[in-house]
Amino acid sequence: VVGVEVPKLKMNNGKEMPALALGTYLGFGQDGPVKSENNMLRDAVIHALNVGYRHIDTAAIYETEAEIGEALKMKLDNGELKREDLFITTKLWNTHHKREQVSEALKESLKKLGLDYVDLYLVHWPMGLNEDYTESDTDYMDTWRGMEDVHRLGLAKSIGVSNFNKEQLTRLLREGSIKPSALQIEVHPQIIQKELVGFAESEGIVVMGYSPFGSLVMRFGMLFPGPKPTDPVLVDIAKKYGKTTPQVVLRWLVDRNIVPVPKSVNPKRLEENINIFDFKLTEEDIEKINEYNSNTRYTLPSFWQDHPYYPFEKIENPAANPFVKQE
Ligand code: NDP
Repeated sequence: VVGVEVPKLKMNNGKEMPALALGTYLGFGQDGPVKSENNMLRDAVIHALNVGYRHIDTAAIYETEAEIGEALKMKLDNGELKREDLFITTKLWNTHHKREQVSEALKESLKKLGLDYVDLYLVHWPMGLNEDYTESDTDYMDTWRGMEDVHRLGLAKSIGVSNFNKEQLTRLLREGSIKPSALQIEVHPQIIQKELVGFAESEGIVVMGYSPFGSLVMRFGMLFPGPKPTDPVLVDIAKKYGKTTPQVVLRWLVDRNIVPVPKSVNPKRLEENINIFDFKLTEEDIEKINEYNSNTRYTLPSFWQDHPYYPFEKIENPAANPFVKQE
């Protein structure tokens, strides 16, 4: 298999992460995670591997691990790829935060993926929940001990966190035995995360940026305020390099040493999103895009905002909890 050669970033444990990851979250509907139909995701992953993607991002809660596993198995069994060519990231869900639950949860994910290790295991959120989704008081430091256990067992080559704020990350660095190697957070032109990215970088922690397109694309079936693909500033930059505006936004992340995690199940867009390693933005272009910052999050689980480990600023009217059936 050939395709685009994606560069790699060095993590603080000496291992390397491919500088672009494929997102595989298909959304959340009335009946839980949206299901892939007609092998849509399996075929998208196969196409992604064909055109050069080597890093796949998933999570237990997405319920996409099994289908990703099918695609990986096909490429590994036919000899086109070797396990060491791939970088697979998955995440621990909030209902498995007790130390001893971490290895159970990862083993479950590995079974679905058909792998005997993942390259990166992330704590999805700092807040623990009980099985019935009521708040659990499990300290994320206990969860981190469980993460260290699976690292020692060789089930996860690197470990890290997602959606932790600076204070939480600081505590992890101070009290943990193993430093997190990666931090996955929301990053796009409307939430540029300058401070948190700078802090992570100073600790050698590689940042992965989720929802990288921000307002460029539809979310929850809606368009939100913020730059669109026809935005004149972005179009100007794109023209200069002969690229599209989504490519410019992905490159803006790459040029800030952030690993973008764009999701696509469309063959053309999968190719568009990986064709970003043959140009580089100037400092001035980067600054122009930084100016769109409005600290807007699309992933804001305000229904958990009374949890002691909720990482974000509280809002006045929290949303209804989609994980709990409303009376
Ligand atoms: P993205 O910013 O990746 O946007 C995805 C949307 O953009 C899809 O509708 C896709 O449609 C469309 N799209 C993809 N490429 C293009 C393009 N070149 N031009 C126009 N439209 C395009 O958002 P996500 O929120 O999905 O985030 C990406 C990934 O990040 C997730 O899949 C998941 O892996 C991760 N994530 C992690 C979270 C966490 O808590 N850690 C939270 C949220 C996301 P189509 O498929 O039809 O191309």
